[in-house]
Amino acid sequence: MSAREPRPAVPVSDHFSPDYSTARERFRTAAAARGAALRSEPLSARGVDGNDLSVDVAYLGPEAPDCVLALSSGLHGVEGFAGSAIQHQLLAEQVDGLDRPAGCGLLLVHALNPFGFDGIRRVNENNVDLNRNFVAHPGGHVASADYEELYDAVNPVRMDDEEADAALLVQLIEFGVEQGFDRLHAALAVGQYLHPEGVQFGGQKEEESNLLVRELAFSETRGAARVCWIDVHTGLGDFGEVEMISESGTVAPDFQRASAWWGEAVQSTVSGDSSAPPVPGPIDAGLAEVLSDRELTAICAEFGTYDTTRSFAALRADNWLHQHGELDSDQGRGIKAELREVFCPDDRGWESSVLEIGARVVQEACTGLAVQ
Ligand SMILES: [Zn+2]
Repeated sequence: MSAREPRPAVPVSDHFSPDYSTARERFRTAAAARGAALRSEPLSARGVDGNDLSVDVAYLGPEAPDCVLALSSGLHGVEGFAGSAIQHQLLAEQVDGLDRPAGCGLLLVHALNPFGFDGIRRVNENNVDLNRNFVAHPGGHVASADYEELYDAVNPVRMDDEEADAALLVQLIEFGVEQGFDRLHAALAVGQYLHPEGVQFGGQKEEESNLLVRELAFSETRGAARVCWIDVHTGLGDFGEVEMISESGTVAPDFQRASAWWGEAVQSTVSGDSSAPPVPGPIDAGLAEVLSDRELTAICAEFGTYDTTRSFAALRADNWLHQHGELDSDQGRGIKAELREVFCPDDRGWESSVLEIGARVVQEACTGLAVQ
């Protein structure tokens, strides 16, 4: 190669892994190459092939940091491909050029729901949506009359009868027409705590990953007075774009900080500006409890894929598959392929966009943390 030829860009596939096990290995290798302090927390659940599952943690920085930027991936299992790719890019390429304040630690938490990442599910081994699990159990369980009304349509027993299924979908559409589609969206997204076999189940106790998040948030932030925690998700919003979703109202100090750091990408679920409705028990609530004596800026970086109707249909089918269907069948493989597509599109342009925006979001957080 002559000196005049540009250096070939690292292919996005070097960051986007084909599966959980490859992603974990790449994360560990890249973290070790950087001399990061590495920790691996095995989970009791096993993967689809009986393989080990773990949450892997890398820390780079001083032992007594002033501030910590934490970046976590895979709370929603299958959404972990994007978060893992951003983490790998950070370790393998970005960290040397990252402009971060002296005294700022970097904490990377890989695959908070390794079961779902490995098995292409959004939920964990107990069918729990972990981003609804950070509530008091059972005192914080929220009843949803709308979900109860729509239960049979959301959780069909059979999906091999197209006519019967179409009638159930009409029931959902009619609810939207009569009550408003925002209310339908909320009924389907907010979650429920009564039906362990149903879609959007928030759990009935603290799940293993929930307890681990709390422990990591306390011990791995090493007493830093200021913590920024970015949890990476995919699914909601415009294709390849990011929405920085805050669970705080727009006048809250953490929302104001987030807006100063990331600009108009920041939206509040409380004000109704976000594409996500306010939900009970998000990870932000758990972090806020553990880090109540710190300055915490907790945010979800949500990378858009397809429209919510398609994503919901994929989640509904996946839940049916695990409750009533057969994984090892053409229908099962089709449902899995669609679920993966709606949370990690097989599209190099989308992957490039996630990596480019992901790197920018990380840099902007460091720049923000530098301002006291
Ligand atoms: Zn998510």
